[in-house]
Amino acid sequence: MWAVAVHGGAGVVSKSIDTLPYVEGLDSALNCGIKRLASKGSALEAVVDAVESLEDNELFNAGRGSVLTEDGVAELEASVMEGKDLRCGAVCGLKTVKNPVKLARLVMQETPHIFLGFEAAEKFADKFPQAIERVSNSYFITERRMKQFQEAMAANQSNLIDHSYNAFPYKEPGSGGGEKGTVGAVACDIYGNVACATSTGGKTRKWSGRIGDTPVIGAGSYASNNSGAFSCTGHGEEFLRNNAAGFVSAAMEVGKLSLKDAVYELVHNRLKPDDGGIIAVSPTAEIVVDFNSLGMFHAFADSSGTRGFKIWHDI
Ligand code: ASP
Repeated sequence: MWAVAVHGGAGVVSKSIDTLPYVEGLDSALNCGIKRLASKGSALEAVVDAVESLEDNELFNAGRGSVLTEDGVAELEASVMEGKDLRCGAVCGLKTVKNPVKLARLVMQETPHIFLGFEAAEKFADKFPQAIERVSNSYFITERRMKQFQEAMAANQSNLIDHSYNAFPYKEPGSGGGEKGTVGAVACDIYGNVACATSTGGKTRKWSGRIGDTPVIGAGSYASNNSGAFSCTGHGEEFLRNNAAGFVSAAMEVGKLSLKDAVYELVHNRLKPDDGGIIAVSPTAEIVVDFNSLGMFHAFADSSGTRGFKIWHDI
């Protein structure tokens, strides 16, 4: 049995917008994961490939298309983790690395450390000219994000979650963009190993140097073969405060809750309404997705032929 799920951020998204491009983006990411898993690849390969494809898709808040800091630049972060041996890697403060998830994987595989940030992370990237593609910061900045940034500035708002645009006066009228956030993937391979990967541009007009939950192992991401693999999206400060992904894992491993109950406990009893959501997969290929925002773009598939996507709670 294998299983994979991907998300494109928690959020309030108008049902009147054309969601097809987002669904297609998630579908391609899902296919990247499926391709690996169905050909006996590892869960790690599946989640890295899936997230890389979402980083390259400018509709999502990761890689190209990331939101901007208060200084008007893209500052990216990502993490990966394997459930087999708790190996993990994370990066933050990146300004020139095209695919942060690939660098996070190299931190895991090629260093004695787990987390590299800012100049140190960029310097580490310099060591892998073949594997790690570099770009100028303008590569990440799309017209839509610049507009969003300017509107947030005009409204004097900062540290905004990507998905809250409809709740603010500077929402993008009729554009249909801007409501989706961070991207992530979780997978279980045929060997019963789980892995997760998460990547983000963070929050619009976040302080330069602000680090969210995404690269923090235990907050936005966690994976253990004793529980499952988890990737979160939403208000990073809340996921950090609640040690969100690690909480679900511990609730299962120590608290003996089922995957579904542990996820429910986090989303509905620990986090506050509209904080966001989580995708999860167990080492037995069970997929659980839950969120307390009105919507969360996600898609899932497994080896038994189950395949689907969901945006809002009722669809
Ligand atoms: N969790 C991310 C952060 O706070 C944002 C998101 O999920 O959209 O940086």
